[in-house]
Amino acid sequence: MDALEAASAHARQWLDQRNTRPIPPRLGFDQLAARFSALPAGPTDPAAVIDLLSQAEPGLMGMNSGRFYGWVIGGVHPAGLGADWLTSAWDQNTCLRAVTPATAALEAVAGDWLLDLLGLPSGSAVGFVTGATMANFTGLAAGRHQVLADHGWDVAADGLIGAPPVRVLVGAERHDTVDLALRYLGLGRPTPVDVDDQGRIRVDALAAALDDRSQTRIQGASAGTEFATCPEAGDRPVIVCLQAGNLHSGAYDPFTEAIELAHARGAWVHVDGAFGLWAAASPGLRDLTAGVAGADSLATDAHKTLNVPYDCGIAIVTRPAALRTAVGVRASYMLDPADAAGPPDPVELTPEFSRRARGVPVWAVLRSLGRDGVAALVDGLVANARALADGIGALPGVRVLNDVAFTQVCFAMADDAATEAVTAALIRSGTVWMSGSRWRGRAVIRISVSNWATTAEDVATSIDTVRRAVQGV
Ligand SMILES: *Cc1c(COP(=O)(O)O)cnc(C)c1O
Repeated sequence: MDALEAASAHARQWLDQRNTRPIPPRLGFDQLAARFSALPAGPTDPAAVIDLLSQAEPGLMGMNSGRFYGWVIGGVHPAGLGADWLTSAWDQNTCLRAVTPATAALEAVAGDWLLDLLGLPSGSAVGFVTGATMANFTGLAAGRHQVLADHGWDVAADGLIGAPPVRVLVGAERHDTVDLALRYLGLGRPTPVDVDDQGRIRVDALAAALDDRSQTRIQGASAGTEFATCPEAGDRPVIVCLQAGNLHSGAYDPFTEAIELAHARGAWVHVDGAFGLWAAASPGLRDLTAGVAGADSLATDAHKTLNVPYDCGIAIVTRPAALRTAVGVRASYMLDPADAAGPPDPVELTPEFSRRARGVPVWAVLRSLGRDGVAALVDGLVANARALADGIGALPGVRVLNDVAFTQVCFAMADDAATEAVTAALIRSGTVWMSGSRWRGRAVIRISVSNWATTAEDVATSIDTVRRAVQGV
């Protein structure tokens, strides 16, 4: 057997036990590190190394189980997995259309399909990055470039030192990786804007924040404490970050009004839609994202709702020139020097230089599902989330805390101690994985239904598991 056949056999074994294996790993980090720690002086047959790797199995988390609801974790669609293997075998460093035309074309087609399915303006730039964190970074890099250019500053040439300070307004319940992306970009800590009980940004609070001339933080002032008053704060460069899909509630910001307000003040609007943007692909759920197409940049993941294997995120910029200026690169030794007027090469759409053709598995999953299949995938996740919320919410002593708009369900017991005890019991069961969190000042149990493989039977088993955990507390 060669290495590929060995890998295929072990992969099948892993996938086949998805419904029967307990979800948590049975061995811990130290035991596993010890198992793999010997570096021999001489060579080992590649197939034997793959066999050795299969001994990692007791340390694997059953993230592909239909009853794994932790964080926001997609499963692996078979077309995506097959395409991912082929992408590695092809080993195309997808920078330039002229050099790797097949993978560049597949990514370009996948990008056009995404814009179509998500109802976003055709002609927007689409870059395939590692995840939504980098998609946030990429969209915000384009925004940083544009708002500074609008104020007469060329950040690509002159950097941030001495630049007009950029204000970044975010919903108080944005994902932490928005802050991380802003940190990478040298924009510091953003200014939080009040949200409602589902975590949606409040339009009146956003309007007030946009008009607030006293609270513009000067770069270098210590975070959160010192503010300097800028007489011309209203004229400063501003970026507004909105959200499609709150981590706890799944709620969506009011895009139409928020974007109109922000644009009236000359702000760049970025939307973090890591999992939630996919509502736009379903005719029945599309209203949740109404107005989102007016954003200047958007971030989403393929490895969550679309069930493409890791790592695959998507940065979409509806003002493509800003992206090309912010992250594009040209070097003298690259073939096919840019035709600045022509369509961008892949290397001009993402922060990376060398990279795998990670858009190819996206093409494959979209091609396998078809337009209706993408809608059915998203609708199915939401239907399962609602069924879980209904079943769990009917259990004595349990309260579902959010309006189940999309794939996220948050529930809790009467007090934090009981909620934490139920969380621990659920994880001990090995039958489901639901992660604990804190939301709106209390301990909660979070469910994210993101795996295409979750069945009605999984849902029923999961509700039953919660019933037993609640009874035991
Ligand atoms: C998961 C997530 C992110 C980060 O995405 P990665 O793919 O983990 O980099 C950002 N925002 C939201 C809302 C998310 O759910």
